[in-house]
Amino acid sequence: MTFKFNTKTVHFQKKAEEKNVSKSQPIYQTSAFSFKDLDDMEDFYRGNKEYLYTRFSNPNTDDLGQGVAQLEGAPKGVATSSGMSAILAGVLAVVSHGDHIIASEDIYGGTYQLFATELKEFGIEVSFVSMNNFAEIENSIKVNTKLLYSESITNPLLRVEDLPSLISLAKKHNIITMIDNTFATPFLIKPYELGADLVIHSATKYIGGHSDVTAGVLVGNEVLITKAKTKVVNLGCNLSPFEAWLACRGLKTLAVRMDRQVKNAQALADFFRSNLSIAKVYYPDSVSENGNGANVSIDLGENYNVETFFKSLQWIRIVPTLAGVESTVTYPLRTSHRSVPDAIRSKLGITKGLVRISLGIEDDEDIIKAFEEALNKAKL
Ligand SMILES: *Cc1c(COP(=O)(O)O)cnc(C)c1O
Repeated sequence: MTFKFNTKTVHFQKKAEEKNVSKSQPIYQTSAFSFKDLDDMEDFYRGNKEYLYTRFSNPNTDDLGQGVAQLEGAPKGVATSSGMSAILAGVLAVVSHGDHIIASEDIYGGTYQLFATELKEFGIEVSFVSMNNFAEIENSIKVNTKLLYSESITNPLLRVEDLPSLISLAKKHNIITMIDNTFATPFLIKPYELGADLVIHSATKYIGGHSDVTAGVLVGNEVLITKAKTKVVNLGCNLSPFEAWLACRGLKTLAVRMDRQVKNAQALADFFRSNLSIAKVYYPDSVSENGNGANVSIDLGENYNVETFFKSLQWIRIVPTLAGVESTVTYPLRTSHRSVPDAIRSKLGITKGLVRISLGIEDDEDIIKAFEEALNKAKL
């Protein structure tokens, strides 16, 4: 074909497609898909073709949704632009104006904001209760209660919720359960297999695993995920193909990363526990046969200077997130719980000495040495 200059700038050959089968999934960095003729396009509406427009679906985002669904043991999943939008899509698949949600009082700050402010403006009411207190949960149930929302492992004190009991309580009252499984990942806990209806992930954390992508995933049964997917499409909470590709690349090493990170966390928790001058060590036990989680929190109490401790951590950086391949530390009092009122903070145990550590994949001796040195320097 002989095109003139302007036409040539856009209509050049697409080499790879349908000629080569690449080992790695190509990135479908496209906003839409093209069709040979009208009948070919009609095939999309007949359900014979999957892709029309990337906001509706895209092979890379589908890979991520299905990949996480498989690990969780759920039939279907949908990838979203962030953990927050996965929560929003899941919630809106279940509740609407006039409905009531019972949520854990000990949830991620962003989720608390979404529930307490945005959902309230939608006319959705939320009661925040302790997931430890089954009588309080039952007393909060109303005729319009549709959803019970909790995390599997809480942040930053790493309490493991009793999911089987929460789920059976909800089922008894015909209430849908939705679990944020970000901290545990299906490597440790599989809430869907325990009977939860919806499971969400901030794929920004362990699913992606390399601190280079913001993404979310929601998994569950066909009916609920189909509903949630409609929300994702209509609200525009879709994930971009490149971000989905990055998260899929991360997902492939989830098991090997988690295995090392969990072992490092156990080793560090054991080290902290052997140090009697640390006020408190928060690290759960008996979480799963694969270990007890990849984060450890400590309360330095009155025996250490917190500022000096953070300054002395050499190569371990202060980062207000978790789950990367590098070990990092964060200070909940001044980050995630900064705007939480003092009274609630102290009820939750968010003290001046509280430090949360997200373990990376380094050698445990090096990690322990770094913390040992910082503790020695910070000792009062
Ligand atoms: C980070 C996080 C979220 C929010 O995810 P984003 O990807 O930042 O939107 C939700 N829940 C938990 C437990 C988180 O750690």
